[in-house]
Amino acid sequence: MSRYTGPVCRLCRAEGAKLFLKGDRCYTEKCGLTKRNSKPGQHGTRRGKMSEYGLRLREKQKLRRFYCLNETQFGAVYEKATNLPGQTGHNFLQLLERRLDNVVYRLGFGVSRNQARQLVRHGHFTVNGRKLDIPSALLNPGDVVAVCEGSKEMALLKENSEAAAARAIPAWLSFNSEAMSGSVVSTPIREQIEVPVNEQLVVEFYAR
Ligand code: SF4
Repeated sequence: MSRYTGPVCRLCRAEGAKLFLKGDRCYTEKCGLTKRNSKPGQHGTRRGKMSEYGLRLREKQKLRRFYCLNETQFGAVYEKATNLPGQTGHNFLQLLERRLDNVVYRLGFGVSRNQARQLVRHGHFTVNGRKLDIPSALLNPGDVVAVCEGSKEMALLKENSEAAAARAIPAWLSFNSEAMSGSVVSTPIREQIEVPVNEQLVVEFYAR
């Protein structure tokens, strides 16, 4: 499935929720959803009643877009979640959060998940001292993510790290701005995962 390359604020407006796809702009008054909270398109002002199926589909799309994954990638993570013990919805969110690209984003090295993924793909990070350029790699408690020595002078990474030092980092991660590194303190529990989605509806979508 091809990657969406259109204007990302349209995605937030379609879902009626902030998906934080545009970096710092998402936190300002210039946010597309703050300025215009209507569906994109000619009939955007209508937000009619949704069917039960529609409700679950939208919740699934919202979560998928929040983590910037295509259908195949997203479905594969869900499959993995169903094979783990415990609640599938929680497992699903944990697997999405523990991805290397998401951790890089949550630590603030990338201003958006897409930027974080690109930085990972370009080989700017190490995990436990070894270069790792696979965005979907899953991190475990104790793993240390650091900017590669050769990338520490990169203007974008320096700027993002400085800004990240002033930002709140999720409690399941720790951040060291001087060393330009962070680590996974624990597996995130549901309350520590900020997503504008009811994951149970996503599970019901796949279980239909
Ligand atoms: Fe979504 Fe960010 Fe655009 Fe706001 S600025 S609509 S949160 S992508």
